[in-house]
Amino acid sequence: MSTVKHVFVTGGVTSSLGKGIIAASLARLLQARGYSVTIQKFDPYLNIDPGTLNPYEHGECFVTDDGAETDLDLGHYERFLDVPTSQANNVTTGRVYLSVIEKERQGNYLGKTVQVVPHITDEIKQRYQTLGKSGRYDIIITELGGTVGDIESLPYIESLRQLKYELGDSNCVVVHLTLIPYLSAAGELKTKPTQHSVKALLELGIQPDILVCRTEHPLPKEMRKKIGLFCNVNHNAVIEARDAESIYDVPLLMQQEQLDRIVLAKLKLSTRQDPDLSTWKDFLFRLKNPQSEINIGLVGKYVELKDAYKSIAEAFVHAGAANNLKVNIKWIHSEHLTRNNAQEKIKGLDGILVAPGFGQRGLEGKLEAIRYVREKNIPFLGICLGMQCAVIEYARHVLRWNGANSTEMDPETLYPVIDLMEGQKNITKMGGTMRLGAYDCQLKPESKLAEIYQSSEITERHRHRYEFNNKYLKSFEQAGLVFSGLNPLTGLVETIELPNHPWFVGVQYHPEYKSTVSKPHPLFVGFVKACFEHKEAEKKPN
Ligand code: GLN
Repeated sequence: MSTVKHVFVTGGVTSSLGKGIIAASLARLLQARGYSVTIQKFDPYLNIDPGTLNPYEHGECFVTDDGAETDLDLGHYERFLDVPTSQANNVTTGRVYLSVIEKERQGNYLGKTVQVVPHITDEIKQRYQTLGKSGRYDIIITELGGTVGDIESLPYIESLRQLKYELGDSNCVVVHLTLIPYLSAAGELKTKPTQHSVKALLELGIQPDILVCRTEHPLPKEMRKKIGLFCNVNHNAVIEARDAESIYDVPLLMQQEQLDRIVLAKLKLSTRQDPDLSTWKDFLFRLKNPQSEINIGLVGKYVELKDAYKSIAEAFVHAGAANNLKVNIKWIHSEHLTRNNAQEKIKGLDGILVAPGFGQRGLEGKLEAIRYVREKNIPFLGICLGMQCAVIEYARHVLRWNGANSTEMDPETLYPVIDLMEGQKNITKMGGTMRLGAYDCQLKPESKLAEIYQSSEITERHRHRYEFNNKYLKSFEQAGLVFSGLNPLTGLVETIELPNHPWFVGVQYHPEYKSTVSKPHPLFVGFVKACFEHKEAEKKPN
């Protein structure tokens, strides 16, 4: 195919309507029809990337293979499509301005006044098209962050207007996602906010091609006609997006509404084959028909905002389905865990995951959780800081090294069992300077990890500054801890495990970033299985 086709997804009325899920669902349907699709997200804030944002502000920071710290929507894209994203899939206003300002300093615009229009808009337009130039994709879906009408969204909307004009309507389709609220006092669905939001788009020169309407109730044909009439959109292209039980239902709901067909027709592309969604449906069936359930405690300090652990929660959904089990996550605030209440908070849970994180707050609670599950033979998975905590706990309570710590928490500790890598010591800038992205790991052939992965060579994504301090490796080994995975080039510790425990695993990397619907992550699948086995064993009288 010669031209790459573009689909833009904009949002109106309110934020949090689920643009990312609609974009990912559409992409999944097009992919199932044999098109090569990718999704990119443009975010209107000034941070260069969300890596410096507090998880309370923006939820989890998702990390790509090439080490980009990105918006959590990229996680949805990967989980739905099973195609890796990259730095180019997430662009922020900060990145756009940085590049324009750098070009200005290099003299690229010599003699010109550098302005939002045309310089910023040209930069955005060019970035809209970057992924399309790779030749790998038939269709690029672009999600625009924010809501139409926001001041900071204006350059993105203007760039979209220009691009649609330049490429033509059959190469560039705009899907506008809006809300149709239900007023219970009146007992009615209301279309006015949608009309206003489309009017705001029209004022900026954009006629949306398709309206996807989030609603709690069915959208009758008459209402679709009314919305169509007032928004210049054929009523067949006014689509209902009912609240779904699970985000994984949305592709099938969108298929029922024929969103993929309408998009293809507008793009003048053939519908090709009927979408092959057999693996997806199989997953959904398992998800909805679990044979049993387990309760896993997730110990972290951002538990008030579930989005802070989005990829972990989704990885459990995938791994649960793979095991025909429902995984209930019990969120445990690490700051509220103490030696005295660890038993009461953890007893009865089938496994514990200690989450990634930064800083001292909540650290002692994580150590208490680990001590408890290590001593009571309860399955444990520690991710990144969670693995580091397992090392600290082992040092303190098995090796009896009082005050052992990570130098992140205590720079003066006598036993810096987790320490900064040499290469990190002189880094003062915060953005994008951690050990980021995919690194290889060699697993010991006889280890639990190698059995779980069914392989001895793996690649996983990282996001951390601190590492296990190899100076202490021998002492830990003598005390029974197994370092089952190492980076083959640097010898840095990637995984730890305890052979005399039913299932005790810590990983310096983030397996959750690589779990998808079609490829549930083996580590989560193995952990969920171990938790279920633990539950069954507990039932039996000894
Ligand atoms: N704070 C730790 C480090 O920087 C762990 C980071 C994480 O859990 N992502 O090494």
